[in-house]
Amino acid sequence: MAKVEFVSWYKKQIKKQLKERIPRYDKRIGVTVKDIRISELGHRWASCGRNGVVNFNWRSVMAPVWVFDYILVHEMVHMIERGHTDRFWHLVARVIPDYEEHVRWLNENGADLDL
Ligand SMILES: [Zn+2]
Repeated sequence: MAKVEFVSWYKKQIKKQLKERIPRYDKRIGVTVKDIRISELGHRWASCGRNGVVNFNWRSVMAPVWVFDYILVHEMVHMIERGHTDRFWHLVARVIPDYEEHVRWLNENGADLDL
């Protein structure tokens, strides 16, 4: 498969996965995702979108689903709290109590989440 087909297949997969996973968390966190953008964010998994837009790197679909969910929750919590403050981690922990495990996986696998 040519690289361009490969990437476009991944982009479709990730949109499908996001549409399925977002409804599990949006009400619990109290945010509304208005749009999903899939891009190449270099070494980042995802980035904070403004105005309800979630930006995802197509590569994040290759992460295990429990890590994928953490990336998603992380971005959704940023819609309420921009910085990595105590309040931010408290909100993440309410949805994913063992989020530190997820952070460890990401650290060990060498990619950064947004800042
Ligand atoms: Zn962040």
